[in-house]
Amino acid sequence: MGKPTGFLEYDRREAEAIAPLERIKNFNEFHIPLSEEEQRKQGARCMECGVPFCQAGMNIKGMTSGCPLNNLIPEWNDLVYHGNWEQAYLRLHKTSNFPEFTCRVCPALCEKACTCGLNGDPVSTKENEMAIIEYAYANGLAGPKPPITRTGKKIAVIGSGPAGLAVADQLNSRGHHVTVFERNDRVGGLLRYGIPNMKLEKHIIDRKIRVMEAEGVTFQVNENVGADAKSKKLLEGYDAVVLACGASQPRDISAPGRDAKGIYFAVDFLTSTTKSLLDHDLKEGTFISAKDKDVIVIGGGDTGNDCVGTCIRHGCKSITQLEMMPKAPDHRAETNPWPQCPLVCKTDYGQEEAIAVFGHDPRIYTTTVKEFIKDKQGNLEKVVLVSLESKLDEKTGRRMMVPVEGTEKEVPCQLVLIAAGFLGSEKYVTDAFGVEVDGRTNVSTKDGKFMTSQPGVFVAGDMHTGQSLVVKAIRQGRDCAREVDEYLMGYSNL
Ligand SMILES: Cc1cc2nc3c(=O)[nH]c(=O)nc-3n(C[C@H](O)[C@H](O)[C@H](O)COP(=O)(O)OP(=O)(O)OC[C@H]3O[C@@H](n4cnc5c(N)ncnc54)[C@H](O)[C@@H]3O)c2cc1C
Ligand code: SF4
Ligand code: SF4
Repeated sequence: MGKPTGFLEYDRREAEAIAPLERIKNFNEFHIPLSEEEQRKQGARCMECGVPFCQAGMNIKGMTSGCPLNNLIPEWNDLVYHGNWEQAYLRLHKTSNFPEFTCRVCPALCEKACTCGLNGDPVSTKENEMAIIEYAYANGLAGPKPPITRTGKKIAVIGSGPAGLAVADQLNSRGHHVTVFERNDRVGGLLRYGIPNMKLEKHIIDRKIRVMEAEGVTFQVNENVGADAKSKKLLEGYDAVVLACGASQPRDISAPGRDAKGIYFAVDFLTSTTKSLLDHDLKEGTFISAKDKDVIVIGGGDTGNDCVGTCIRHGCKSITQLEMMPKAPDHRAETNPWPQCPLVCKTDYGQEEAIAVFGHDPRIYTTTVKEFIKDKQGNLEKVVLVSLESKLDEKTGRRMMVPVEGTEKEVPCQLVLIAAGFLGSEKYVTDAFGVEVDGRTNVSTKDGKFMTSQPGVFVAGDMHTGQSLVVKAIRQGRDCAREVDEYLMGYSNL
């Protein structure tokens, strides 16, 4: 333990966020990192616990507690305190392929389980992670390290999200030839088109892709595998195929008037903004715009929050975010003790910005859309909202949220964004490879395994587990790569 009294002497300090009214003027990341001296103090707050829950990544009551990558957190927190950045990077790199992504977008499950958080504020592990990886890039430590020998084995990875990238990075480091096929025009999956630029600036992805290319990974974009005859060719031409296509089937809302013009899925909306930003700096007319519109976002989760932040930057007239469930408590309930993942209400960046611009929280709880109302041209004009209450379904014995008669309310709305979650994999890909799927259309494997019902075809990430988190997709990619390596070589040292 570097500084035994660190957690007593130093308070938690975080990177300063640019004020909401200022940061909404652009789509840039908006946190100003601490100075090196201050970051080292934050490292000193780590108690290097004998049982470090922060890195456990275990499942408690169906939720993950601690880092799913089992990052060696107490070790690198100590190295941060000592200013030994190079060693800190080497320890971090042992378990994580993409700390530059997780230090920006991860919900920091490590901090939720940190022992320091039991009686006070947790160690700022996520920001320590950022300080380490950015030091590594700035000081030439994170550059290309191509494998010394090649095995001659060829692997096709379909999908370039965090799962596919982790598979590719791991297998390339073992000396296999890896080609990543991506149907979009740019690499990165939801890191690229999904998560907005203000959470993850896209040059951060490009920086890592350049390193991977220099290490020998080949990327082929605009390749929609399965939509043409490619799948057969891939199965013949490669020693193994890994499906990492995500869970991109969005959950829809069924209500009268759903065909009105002006209703979009959240990812389509977010993608159009980011693509336009990257292509030509948001030239008018090249993206789905919320400017001067009354917007309703259906879905109270993180994707919904990203839509709120994006609409605010477009200059929307008003914004409302609907959540079917009641508001979560502000503090942990007694039934949800540490180190369980805390089920509490958080006010995220988009909601903070909505409060700053409009003077109130955009979220309305226990409410959904009952009907979409169109004008004569078929454009969305209004929506009918209805309150929900929890009732026991006598047939299934499960509690359901059901509409309360007489609570209907008509509100003006010209843009609806559906952020109601995802259903699973897309049929044309699973059909093309002939792999079995489960009831949720996730690709099936044996428990804890990654080989699908087709020998030599593997699956990783959201396509395997359903919509999840970047850190879990990376974990899946690493574990899948080990199994592919064993399949090809008879053993694995990954
Ligand atoms: C709007 C949004 C915001 C999110 N924010 C966060 C966040 O802040 N933090 C967090 O941890 N998680 C977040 N998530 C979840 C996280 O992004 C996903 O869990 C993660 O990206 C899954 O990784 P993946 O590699 O399995 O799939 P994806 O990232 O979905 O990547 C799959 C890739 O496969 C490609 N593909 C699909 N089919 C084919 C095909 N037939 N041929 C070629 N390519 C194909 C797709 O185009 C895509 O690029 C967010 C999700 C969304 C939708
Ligand atoms: S990947 Fe996420 S959970 Fe793991 S150390 Fe980083 S911020 Fe914490
Ligand atoms: S649980 Fe918190 S205090 Fe303990 S080792 Fe992990 S980061 Fe440090």
